[in-house]
Amino acid sequence: MASSQTFVIIGASLAGAKAAETLRSEGFADRLILIGEEPVRPYERPPLSKDYLRGEKGFDETAVHTAEFYDQHAIELRLSTVVTGLDVAHGRVTLASGERIGYDRLLVATGSTPRRLSVPGADLDGVRYLRTVADSDELRRALEGRPQVVVIGAGWIGAEVAASARQLGSEVAMLDVASVPLERVLGPEVGAIYRDLHAEQGVDLHFGVGIEALAGSGTVEEVRLTDGTRLPAQLVVVGVGVQPRVELAQAAGLHIDNGIAVDEHLQTSAPSIYAAGDVANAYHPRYRSSIRLEHWSAALNQGPVAARNMLGSSIVYDRTPYFFSDQYDLGMEYRGWAPIFDRVVFRGNPASREFIAFWLHQHRVVAAMNANVWDQGDAIEALLASHAPVDPDRLADPHTGLTEITRWDRQEIP
Ligand SMILES: Cc1cc2nc3c(=O)[nH]c(=O)nc-3n(C[C@H](O)[C@H](O)[C@H](O)COP(=O)(O)OP(=O)(O)OC[C@H]3O[C@@H](n4cnc5c(N)ncnc54)[C@H](O)[C@@H]3O)c2cc1C
Repeated sequence: MASSQTFVIIGASLAGAKAAETLRSEGFADRLILIGEEPVRPYERPPLSKDYLRGEKGFDETAVHTAEFYDQHAIELRLSTVVTGLDVAHGRVTLASGERIGYDRLLVATGSTPRRLSVPGADLDGVRYLRTVADSDELRRALEGRPQVVVIGAGWIGAEVAASARQLGSEVAMLDVASVPLERVLGPEVGAIYRDLHAEQGVDLHFGVGIEALAGSGTVEEVRLTDGTRLPAQLVVVGVGVQPRVELAQAAGLHIDNGIAVDEHLQTSAPSIYAAGDVANAYHPRYRSSIRLEHWSAALNQGPVAARNMLGSSIVYDRTPYFFSDQYDLGMEYRGWAPIFDRVVFRGNPASREFIAFWLHQHRVVAAMNANVWDQGDAIEALLASHAPVDPDRLADPHTGLTEITRWDRQEIP
């Protein structure tokens, strides 16, 4: 590498900003450029569907760093700037303005973007998506008039927006093709807890149905479901998942596989390029599989690992997947990865909304969710990391410490 180097980060959000911070804290003293298409400095997105949306938190509280941080650390923060091209052979990126910037190391942290609805009427006014702080600001303004809201998609963002809209006094309907909210990740048993929670809070729920069309003259007025139901709507919020922003990397010839494919060091198929956060499909040694995590904690922790590896380290990213959600008075943390499970065990009564749910596969805990229980994180981590078979009765018994459960002898498996 040249004596004075340039490191470029595409994507000025959580993964990118944490990577920039780490490069400086690890002693990188040369040119560091953080490029982002949004007009504001990097911020965390989780509040956008929660307290920020409800007007309980301001932008400064969700920003990753203070406004002064970037100057203080000589990080060239280029906002409202879109990278339109990546030339791997020559080691340079092209901006929408035509400017070219050479790099010695590049981090792609371009995140993800909401999937769009493709039914008739999807482009009517009043149909909204939520990804950016600008989206959240617009949504908050729209919610001020307490419109009738229809939320399409009962995943995390849909469910959290439904909760916030109810808390702000709107009538809310929520629908999904699944049988319960959050079914894809949590499965039917735990998803049912969220269904009951939203029903209790007065959300009009429609599950196992699709959308036929959105109707209205100019502005949305009605959502038509495949079962014939017609839901009046002045505001529609679509939360039907996200897709990784791989366009640049793909056009540049990097290996793409459900995101930018990276190894356990977050290195792409091009040695001087790394990827982190929502866009990265990273090989996870514990699961012997590549996983793309659309979670805050992956962006928070992968950015720094990528940064250290850009500086020459060989750190493996092997953290337990983690995410959290807050809906009404139900807060939860989920750890692990459970693409397949054969049993769910509850510790505590789910009806009390103070419990831990464990997902088991072949007698081993593969994921756990603590709901309104906040002091068991380390024990859950240890349980997941041990990969030891467990006794479901002891797992369910709140009087048995979680650390004792991991000691269950393999011979005792029924
Ligand atoms: C409303 C909402 C609520 C959420 N709540 C939770 C939660 O409760 N818990 C949880 O674990 N996770 C939550 N998440 C997910 C979490 O916010 C994401 O996983 C995280 O933001 C990913 O960070 P990232 O840095 O990888 O990418 P992103 O945050 O998507 O940022 C990527 C950035 O790159 C920019 N960019 C992309 N392409 C270019 C380009 N060509 N040129 C320049 N800039 C570019 C984008 O504009 C964007 O600013 C939530 C997300 C949303 C939207």
